[in-house]
Amino acid sequence: MTAQLIDGKALSQKLRQEVSGRVKALKAGGIVPGLAVILVGEDPASQVYVRNKVRACEETGMYSVLEKWPDTLTEAELLARVQELNEDKNIHGILVQLPLPRQIDATKVIESIAPEKDVDGFHVASAGALMTGLPGFWPCTPYGCMKMLEHIGYDLKGKHAVVIGRSNIVGKPVAMMLLQQNATVTICHSATKNLKDMTLQADVIVAAVGKRKLLTADMVKPGAVVLDVGMNRTEEGKLCGDVDFDGVKEVAGWITPVPGGVGPMTITMLMVNTCESAERSAGQR
Ligand code: NAD
Repeated sequence: MTAQLIDGKALSQKLRQEVSGRVKALKAGGIVPGLAVILVGEDPASQVYVRNKVRACEETGMYSVLEKWPDTLTEAELLARVQELNEDKNIHGILVQLPLPRQIDATKVIESIAPEKDVDGFHVASAGALMTGLPGFWPCTPYGCMKMLEHIGYDLKGKHAVVIGRSNIVGKPVAMMLLQQNATVTICHSATKNLKDMTLQADVIVAAVGKRKLLTADMVKPGAVVLDVGMNRTEEGKLCGDVDFDGVKEVAGWITPVPGGVGPMTITMLMVNTCESAERSAGQR
């Protein structure tokens, strides 16, 4: 293996410790950062995600409310509940776990969250703030990718970053963040004709597609940084990313594993955003 591993688990632990310290300081001033997590229905993956988010709040000393609603909840009922949480002084972050049942318009619900409590960073106001470089909440997974680059001391100025995937939650926001750090950014997607030509030029590759072994060793420039956001399953049911890790690790300079790479960073950045929201409400930021 020539690549150095970027350990998302270890970095997460370090960042969560930092959050715990900030939470302690807030508590000393009489503020307990609070996150409300809303789950509608019984989606098994969502149940695991929300449980992990609540556990992370407990670990960092934050207050959390987990609200579980039946999948018969109406859109009007959910919108009313979000409105109450928008006005609740003990809540600094609101997260509505997606997907939502069919009768509920997810966009409408996300847009009903007060932007100052949008710790998932999915509101159009948050997307607009990221686009224009204004203060706002960055979506957690791409924010985690940027923290990993910061952690290895990587200077993006003048570097070519190739993002594979253009979703609103990963591809597009991470491209904006890389641009903000002065990288030259190329976004590739399902209609890109010559993916390998693009990735071979990249100093940094972010793979966010959801296809196993999409990025192979022959597509990577020696020494490149490879961040693997993908979460897929092998035929044996094991978690894996978009990158052919065994091959690419022999060519890349830095690489994130799956599991233990970008994955743990997502919830960690949710904690960072929630803590920051509480600090902002206290006028500290
Ligand atoms: P998405 O399905 O919304 O977007 C996938 C993107 O990949 C699309 O923009 C599409 O154009 C592009 N694409 C599809 N086939 C392609 C191809 N052959 N070549 C190039 N581009 C192609 O997915 P998403 O929500 O952005 O998630 C992407 C992956 O990241 C998934 O595996 C998801 O599970 C994972 N994910 C992980 C985390 C985490 O915490 N680690 C968070 C969010 C998403």
